[in-house]
Amino acid sequence: MRKKIAILGGGESGIGTAILAKKNAYEVFLSDRGKIKDKFKEVLRHIEIEWEDEKHTESRIFDADVVMKSPGIPDTAPLIKQLIEKGVPVISEIEFASWFSEVPVIGITGSNGKTTVTNLVQHLLKEGGVNSGMGGNIGNSYAKMVAEETHDWFVLELSSFQLDGIEKFNPHIAILTNITPDHLDRYDYKLENYIASKFRITENQTEEDYFIYDADDKNITEWLKRHPVKSQKLPFSIEKKIGNGAYIENENIVVNINNSKFTMPTSELALQGKHNTKNAMAASMVSQLLRIRKQTIRESMASFQGVEHRLEKVLKINNVLYINDSKATNVNATFYALESMESETVWILGGVDKGNVYDDLLPLVNEKVKAIICLGVDNEKIKASFGNIVETMVETTSMNEAVQMAYRLADKGDNVLLSPACASFDLFENYEDRGRQFKEAVRNL
Ligand code: ADP
Repeated sequence: MRKKIAILGGGESGIGTAILAKKNAYEVFLSDRGKIKDKFKEVLRHIEIEWEDEKHTESRIFDADVVMKSPGIPDTAPLIKQLIEKGVPVISEIEFASWFSEVPVIGITGSNGKTTVTNLVQHLLKEGGVNSGMGGNIGNSYAKMVAEETHDWFVLELSSFQLDGIEKFNPHIAILTNITPDHLDRYDYKLENYIASKFRITENQTEEDYFIYDADDKNITEWLKRHPVKSQKLPFSIEKKIGNGAYIENENIVVNINNSKFTMPTSELALQGKHNTKNAMAASMVSQLLRIRKQTIRESMASFQGVEHRLEKVLKINNVLYINDSKATNVNATFYALESMESETVWILGGVDKGNVYDDLLPLVNEKVKAIICLGVDNEKIKASFGNIVETMVETTSMNEAVQMAYRLADKGDNVLLSPACASFDLFENYEDRGRQFKEAVRNL
């Protein structure tokens, strides 16, 4: 008898799962309670999958041998609860894809820096002549790549929601960039639950595998003390010297893995800022493990172009540098953006706040920010937090207005930084839309 899979959610991961399941002779039924995008409907028709949207036909879903739940659907959704009660296995697309691939995986998770590290690792591998496919939480889904592409390695960005639905998935190299509170609404408002979810990236690892992580992050190190992992640990730190792992010495990155050393001056890294030094350390450890030539690693780290909307340098106008960090949707990401500013800064922030506490930013704002431009529907918290320490504070309601205001407030040598510390949904479609509108407004100055 053919195995039956029900796929819940017709987005990137649902379509990828459908393609892979079909290829492996599953009987596939895809169901989305919302509307499926036309481009995905097209694919489903093309590969002849049965599907429905704007409803869930429960009888067909309960009839499946296994259910793939898209990462956007919480475990608390009534349908998911019922499936679990009935003993139907509910897994993520990442788990499903891993059943059909022997190709080793480099898995990258963390609260911030996932996309940057994923792209940097892929860049280093490509320059080093390794045939790798990049995807997961960005670009193509893992399942789609397993179905359609041939590689020697997969480089996967993994969100905690994707990790929640794994059983056997085991990345040969796992990277945990950092853990700061985020998405707590999906974790019963308990940081412990969110940390546990991130650490699932290591749960099936063995002594043959590697775990790369930030040793300066207390959430990570404290957890590790109480929950040891089996894999070989490769910590990185910008605060202390590390025996086996990566650290900073005399403004050089030093990576020392089993007595093979790689060094590179931090000044030569294409991406500046302490957080990016950490990202570079993580990525260079992967390259070392894959035995990419040291000279190639150095050259590739120096040539990496960065990722759009992450401290992206847009333009210099009248000797004022405009920087797009629209992806900074939480306080921690903005902390690192402000920290990396080397000139006086006009700072544009605001949007939908996920319970932000701005205290950690106060010293940096005091030191570096000359003016704040609020760009959001509700700016009260920003005004209350920074009103006393920044002389100039203005409220704006569109990107054009904010950028023109910044143009007026900035003097030669200053930076204008869009790093909102908030989500974008009040005034924009998403953070990409916000970043693109910023760049457009800057180009129109
Ligand atoms: P993610 O994919 O985890 O959201 P990104 O690479 O897209 O991470 O970066 C998100 C934001 O976090 C950007 O504003 C970026 O400048 C900042 N950032 C990047 N790396 C780090 C890091 N290691 N620690 C803290 N913030 C970071």
